[in-house]
Formats: sequence, structure tokens, C-alpha cells
Amino acid sequence: MVGTISDVYLDLRNELRHHGVTSAPLEAKELLAFALEIPRAEFNERSGSYLFDEQLKRLEELKSRRLKGEPLAHIIGEWDFYSLTFILTPGVLIPRPDTETLVDAGLAFFSRRERGRILDLCCGSGCVGIALLKNLPDTISCVFADTSEEALAVTKENLVRHRLTFRGLPVAQNALEPCDQALGKFNLIVSNPPYIPTGDIPELDVSVKDYEPHEALDGGTDGLDFYRAIAVNFKDALTKNGMLAFECGMGQAPQVEEILRENGYEDIRILRDFTGVERVVTGVRTPPEKA
Ligand code: GLN
Repeated sequence: MVGTISDVYLDLRNELRHHGVTSAPLEAKELLAFALEIPRAEFNERSGSYLFDEQLKRLEELKSRRLKGEPLAHIIGEWDFYSLTFILTPGVLIPRPDTETLVDAGLAFFSRRERGRILDLCCGSGCVGIALLKNLPDTISCVFADTSEEALAVTKENLVRHRLTFRGLPVAQNALEPCDQALGKFNLIVSNPPYIPTGDIPELDVSVKDYEPHEALDGGTDGLDFYRAIAVNFKDALTKNGMLAFECGMGQAPQVEEILRENGYEDIRILRDFTGVERVVTGVRTPPEKA
């Protein structure tokens, strides 16, 4: 096959579409730019150039990985979230656009505050806390907690990439266990914990169930294990008037709301994502801290 970047792009787009890839135009462009080692922004101005044989060979290999189900984000090793590009490995969840609602909730909370501390619990790639820090003043910092060593290493790389190492600290902390008191108090805890019911995991898309870490997806029998544990274990880690903000799965918001209510959180709110799904549940710890 000899052709210009533009010809190869059209063939690739059609082939991906034929294999049921939903965002074929976007994926074709990303794969091609990655195979050619050119920045995505230069794609259009180079569309009339021809490809070298090695570039075509590289593209064929990448394409066959994608067609077997490997997510594009794993192939290219990075992914965009909240208009920022994050480094990714197969050991962390790929950031979803739904999760931008969690960032919006955190930014709204800080619209009335100049300073404070955030905990990003079950941080994975660190995308939620980093998107918050990038959009908040330097007086606000974030602790990134996960049980996975790999997630903490990826978060650290992303903090370096976004020049935030002075405001972000990755720490090992299991969300199902009591919060290490040495971490101090937080004005805001954001968490996108694993929430898929264990029995639903085999039904997930191949690109998710065969390629993404189950430890970031499996929320126990009813999918709610992490909400119950965090609502109890991390309440004392919130300051007075501190807010806990959870992402949840489709249909789980009423149950998460109930968990927060049972545990004495107040001013509970549910926010919808850009598709209209109830995606984020927030609650405030209002009683004064114990002396
Ligand atoms: N939103 C992810 C999915 O549907 C799950 C993320 C999670 O469990 N926190 O695949």
C-alpha cells in the first residue's frame, strides 16, 4: 500500500469503523499520528506527505493490536482528560469523560475558598486531583492515595509532567481501611472508587474487562463496598464543613446518597454528567470536630 497520510487515514478509519470502533475518525487520527511520531496538531498540515515503509509496518502492528480489543489509550500510553494529557499504563483505569463531573464538583466547592487540602482517594493515574490542582490556586494542595504501587508511580509521573510535584503527594492508603491519621485533615475528599458489581465484570466490553485493572473496577457484590467503607473510615479525615464527593455508576446515586445520609453527612447533592446520568454524589460533614 502506497499512499499519502490522508489516504492511509481514510482506509484506517473505514477499517476501524467496520470493526465496530465507535469513534473511528478520532482513533484513526490518534493511531496514525502515534505511528508517524508526529504531534496530533501537525496531522492536517502533513496530510499530503507519503509514508515510509517502516511507518506503514508500525501502523499495521498498532492496528492489529487495536482490532484485537486493546484500548487506544494503552497503545499510545497517554490520554486526555479535562483538557490535560495524562501518562497511562495498563495498571491504571483510563480516565473517562464522565469523571469530569467529579472535577467540576470539586472546583465548585473551592470557588468560595482560597486555600485548603484535597484527598484524591483511589487516585489511579491521578487525573482527578491533577485536574483540580491545575484549575485552583497554588495555595491548594492534594494528597493522592491508592493501594496500587503502579498507580502511585503513574500519579507521580503525571505530577512531574504537569509541574505539580510541590503541591501533590502520592501515598499508599487502602480506601477500605481507616484513614492514616498522619495524613491530617482535608477540606475536600474526591473519590472515583471501583464500583462495578463483581458479577457484572464478565459482561463488560472486551477492551475494559480484558485490558483494564479489575482492582480499579470491582466494587464487591453490589458494587457499593467502597462507598460504605469510605463514608465511615474517612469522615474524621474531613474538616468541619469539609465535603466528600463520590463518582458512582449508572443507577447507584440513590444508594450512595442513602449511605451518606446514614452516616450523618448533610447537604447531600447529586450531579449529572454530560450525558444526563446521575454521576456524582456529594455530602458535607457539618458537626464540629471532636476536641
Ligand atoms: N466508569 C468505569 C466503567 O464503567 C468504572 C470506573 C469505576 O469502577 N470506578 O468502566
